[in-house]
Amino acid sequence: MSYTFKGGMHVPDYKELTCGKPIKKLDGDKIHIYPLQQHIGAPLELKVAVGDNVKAGQVLADTDAFVSTPVHSSVSGRVCDIKPYLHPSGAMVTSVFVENDFEYTLSEDIHPYDPDSMTHDELLAVVRNAGIVGMGGAGFPTHVKLSPPPEKKIDYLIVNGAECEPYITADHRRMLETPELIIDGIQIVLKILGLDCGYIGIETNKKDAIEIMTKKAQEAGNIKVCPLKPKYPQGAEKQLIYAVSGRQVPSGGLPADAGAIVINIDTVSQMSLAFRKGMPLTKRIVTVSGDCIAQPGNFEVYTGVTFDYLIQAAGGFSRDVKKLIMGGPMMGIAQYSTEPPVVKTTSSLLALSAEGGGYDDYSPCIRCGRCVDHCPMHLMPLYLSKFSLEGDLEKAEEYNILDCIECGLCSYLCPGKQGPLHNIRVAKQQILENRRKKK
Ligand code: SF4
Ligand code: SF4
Repeated sequence: MSYTFKGGMHVPDYKELTCGKPIKKLDGDKIHIYPLQQHIGAPLELKVAVGDNVKAGQVLADTDAFVSTPVHSSVSGRVCDIKPYLHPSGAMVTSVFVENDFEYTLSEDIHPYDPDSMTHDELLAVVRNAGIVGMGGAGFPTHVKLSPPPEKKIDYLIVNGAECEPYITADHRRMLETPELIIDGIQIVLKILGLDCGYIGIETNKKDAIEIMTKKAQEAGNIKVCPLKPKYPQGAEKQLIYAVSGRQVPSGGLPADAGAIVINIDTVSQMSLAFRKGMPLTKRIVTVSGDCIAQPGNFEVYTGVTFDYLIQAAGGFSRDVKKLIMGGPMMGIAQYSTEPPVVKTTSSLLALSAEGGGYDDYSPCIRCGRCVDHCPMHLMPLYLSKFSLEGDLEKAEEYNILDCIECGLCSYLCPGKQGPLHNIRVAKQQILENRRKKK
């Protein structure tokens, strides 16, 4: 039996390019670049200056704000510059440049913690101070996610191993190679949330991962693995909650409104590393793939190396690239340069040719209705797109545009390459901006 949700569709996943490739650990580069913006939340203040010597795991920037999380150096060396630099979002963001001494000397602040002897607030402080954010792409600070309002009763912890975006296999490899980190991280999260048991959702196209995680979960005794039908966007929070628990997050609501918290599989692994080794989030697994990459694979990298460094590690480009994307092809961010650095949310780097999906031709809507048939939020993307183009924000709100989870499915399957999502995003941003101004 496999669990699923209504809507969505199976898309070609191209995971065969990398799912069988063991994670390759890469050394650091000469210079590491750390943008101060690697999370959703309050901006950070610098804690270092040019010329300072820093150690691996040392805080480079932080703030007192609760909804925020620090950025750490992944290597030891010397701060050689601080200036605006190209961020994967396309913006120029203040970034700390560290010249790597290749010693990887650890900061004195790095030491293990015993979660069993800590209070709830102390546990959350470890998560915050380790700079942990949602590593699936969202970048929401994990300690905030683990602090739902007291009036919301949480009874479902769902660990997201769906990895439904095409090409990406980083979480798949994590489950195969270090399942014990995932199980340990889940126990820590359960302790923080005061729950007895948790669930892991994994798509059935990862049978080997289901097998290993089921064995480990049975040994743990308080975790259940839920096999999920391979369908996009199975890993979206609302769809995953419905598939695993049968509960619906209300329109405009959050997972906590359905009594659930969803955490990415690599994020829970990071929780284990933060407690057992005291290591902040300074390394991650990145899938480098696509039909323009010479040797696609999965790489464990120190944060702050450039995309170019990663691409070279994967053998470089094998043909002309039409589109370079950080993240998956459905929800990722298109890149116009290989200069941006790997940040906490870099789950993958894809280089695609025109045949591989790197097209962006435009033609008008032919009203085929495909986007309506498959929208996982049961919206009418063609009308939302039309209202956006006409500037009719009132009508767009009436048609629940804010419920769009920006999964990109409507744009993917639009035969006219109309690309409803782009227009939907524009209208959503305008509506949210207008609301902010009114406040
Ligand atoms: S309207 Fe939003 S939720 Fe629906 S398919 Fe398009 S991007 Fe996905
Ligand atoms: S899928 Fe594209 S062409 Fe078809 S109705 Fe939706 S927007 Fe129009």
